[in-house]
Amino acid sequence: MSENKDIWSKAKRIVVKIGSSLVTDEGRGVDSEAINRWVTQFRYLQKLDKEVILVSSGAIAEGVVRLGFVKRPTEIHELQACAAVGQMGLAHAYEKAFASHGLTCGQLLLTHADFANRERYLNARHTLLSLLKLKAVPIINENDTVITDEIKVGDNDTLGALTTNLVDADILVILTDQEGMFTADPRNDPNAELISRAAAGSADLEAMAGGAGSSIGKGGMLTKILAAKRATKSGASTVIVSGRIPDVLIRLADGESLGTLLVAESEPISARKQWMSDHLQLKGYCVIDEGAKEAIKKGKSLLPVGVKAIHGEFLRGEVISCFDGEGKEVARGLSNYTSEMARRLTGKHREEIKEIIGYEERQELIHHDNMVVL
Ligand code: GLU
Repeated sequence: MSENKDIWSKAKRIVVKIGSSLVTDEGRGVDSEAINRWVTQFRYLQKLDKEVILVSSGAIAEGVVRLGFVKRPTEIHELQACAAVGQMGLAHAYEKAFASHGLTCGQLLLTHADFANRERYLNARHTLLSLLKLKAVPIINENDTVITDEIKVGDNDTLGALTTNLVDADILVILTDQEGMFTADPRNDPNAELISRAAAGSADLEAMAGGAGSSIGKGGMLTKILAAKRATKSGASTVIVSGRIPDVLIRLADGESLGTLLVAESEPISARKQWMSDHLQLKGYCVIDEGAKEAIKKGKSLLPVGVKAIHGEFLRGEVISCFDGEGKEVARGLSNYTSEMARRLTGKHREEIKEIIGYEERQELIHHDNMVVL
């Protein structure tokens, strides 16, 4: 059995992300025929006993058309207005297509805050799992109408990966307007070759995928590669493939090799640790010394004595990041102290800590059980 076939035949839960350019026929407006074709394919996957979750872009692109803008506006309030109007168009088109196949769908509009807050994260997970149990197809988009820099995911490739982690999906399919990932930019390098298979998370891929995306959607190839890397955290492989290939999902499910398959090769990390690493924006971070870095890598807790500096403002129990002296993120985890207290304890030994806080407290800034090493 080919490796593709093996991955697909074992997969039970699949997240399909469709980019703006495809959904809106390169910005001309919602492409109902294309949507209908994908829904036919979802139906096929469901018949194979697979669950499908859709992450669809296109709200802003559709809103741009409906509101009569000549080109995509740049003002945030105008983009939010476009998202509000365009999301109606998307929902309407999907609802119609799903209904014509006798299927039910449900919409979730999420922001980064829904992934960052533990309670909201679990709520979103429960809603999604309930929808799947009820055989309704969840359709997810970022809630672009309320986003500010602090709470935005920013692009739907990342949202697709976060969703993959959230529901422990087996495969993330990123349907795009390109054939897959190439060794160089095929638009200006005739020797560029399609990469049909690689390990997700390999540093070479990131270096190759420098370029920006189309002017219609937000994600370029780099966001897709990073999404694949994120998806591996829960053990999912990613396929980056053209959504214009006829019956693309059916053919993939039947084991055909199309586009670029980025295989998850590392062991999945626990759901709680995934949640910590899913934080896109953190309220604070610490800089640690080499000794602490080595200790963390060996599975030890982070003690204040190994901390060189604390940045940002955070509360006890919030997720913070740990950087080494060269600015590389090495770990993240739940802080046992507020940023204010952590600053006072920076570089201090056990006895000094006791004196500062006045009683025998937990000594670690981050306990290793509450930490994910990156
Ligand atoms: N959420 C945006 C939209 O629906 C798209 C973001 C993206 O394309 O990555 O318009």
